[in-house]
Amino acid sequence: MSDMVSIFLQLLLFKLVAPVTFRHHRYDDLVRTLYKVHNECPHVTRVYSIGRSVKGRHLYVLEFSDYPGIHEPLEPEVKYVGNMHGNEVLGRELLLQLSEFLCEEFRNRNQRIVRLVEGTRIHILPSMNPDGYEVAAAAQDRDISGYLVGRNNANGVDLNRNFPDLNTYIYYNEKNGGPNHHLPLPDNWKNQVEPETQAVIQWIRSFNFVLSANLHGGAVVANYPYDKSLEHRVRGFRRTANTPTPDDTLFQKLAKVYSYAHGWMHQGWNCGDYFPDGITNGASWYSLSKGMQDFNYLHTNCFEITLELSCDKFPRQEELQREWLSNREALIQFLEQVHQGIKGMVRDENYNNLADAVISVSGINHDVTSGDHGDYFRLLLPGTYTVTATAPRFDPETVSVTVGPGEPKLVNFQLKRSTPPAAPKRRGPNSGHRGRVLPKKVQPRAAKKKEMMVKQSQRVPA
Ligand SMILES: [Zn+2]
Repeated sequence: MSDMVSIFLQLLLFKLVAPVTFRHHRYDDLVRTLYKVHNECPHVTRVYSIGRSVKGRHLYVLEFSDYPGIHEPLEPEVKYVGNMHGNEVLGRELLLQLSEFLCEEFRNRNQRIVRLVEGTRIHILPSMNPDGYEVAAAAQDRDISGYLVGRNNANGVDLNRNFPDLNTYIYYNEKNGGPNHHLPLPDNWKNQVEPETQAVIQWIRSFNFVLSANLHGGAVVANYPYDKSLEHRVRGFRRTANTPTPDDTLFQKLAKVYSYAHGWMHQGWNCGDYFPDGITNGASWYSLSKGMQDFNYLHTNCFEITLELSCDKFPRQEELQREWLSNREALIQFLEQVHQGIKGMVRDENYNNLADAVISVSGINHDVTSGDHGDYFRLLLPGTYTVTATAPRFDPETVSVTVGPGEPKLVNFQLKRSTPPAAPKRRGPNSGHRGRVLPKKVQPRAAKKKEMMVKQSQRVPA
């Protein structure tokens, strides 16, 4: 009852202050809306495309930052992805509403939003599957209801079953020793994935994302990794089993931040299912292979959760405003979660930034690496941790850190070169940073990342 009253009051307040139109946006309308937001907030936004769908539609991202297009060291990158399943449309509309809201509130000098935009680089991809969406929307117009119409891309592929399967490696490594982070892509990965998946993989490899959420529909729950159970199939049946990552308590907290800031997700009973606190480990709900969430965790520094936001995958237009008001605070709070744990610079004795240095936290078997600017971000719950930075040819440095509940703690590392120095080698004119040997466990990704960066800079801005 109190929820209903508060939603009613919010509706009233919202009507008074911000007349926004709530409607479903077809592709052209979506593109117009992104550019409209950019035109209204040109100094803190940028629209760019990460690639095209099977049918040639651009996958547009709207970026919010006080320096759009630039990574500022120590300022974390965060992303939202919507509409990966073309028929699950609420996330797409919520992300457009969020874009308009961030822009308006920034212009209104809302201190919370100004702080967020100035301290965070936010990337919003409202639709990862624009082709599927058009099929779903057309069916909706003709009143053809089908639970799966428009779910897949134009080649009939489910994009959330289309990422390289890295779980198999880590489950092997868990038994036999080996890392569970920065696992390399298979050599021929581009031939194994759809254009939309390829675009997203290149995107998430070219930014040092720290936190992410993937917005779906068909249930109401915040789902965290792993999505794939250890024994995915037993005698042809999918095995459901709680399959936690080494960051399980952190992921549970991230999921709870969303569910408790959401109008009713935390209540648990939704769409005929019950999830305590409105959260679930992915594999304990149902096991899913080749999903995007596990891929983020196993291949990059990014921690991603999957948000199921509505029982009805294609809610009626009249419900959009109520949904926005129930998700608005949760969408903002989740972005703010990127500011916790520790972060800092990794440098050498001459204050040169060290990219791809490995940051390990004792007791949590999952490392992160520093980005191209030498900065790293390690999300952590409050507590005391032993943290080690390592880089090839440098002595490791270990510190003890106490993390509080507020802002992230700044922990810089200045690594000393190991002795004895290697025999002087003949070096090419372009050696130096690029010629450096990378740590073995991150070498495949790091090497390919360089290749990606070249390609990205050649991309024509949209
Ligand atoms: Zn989905």
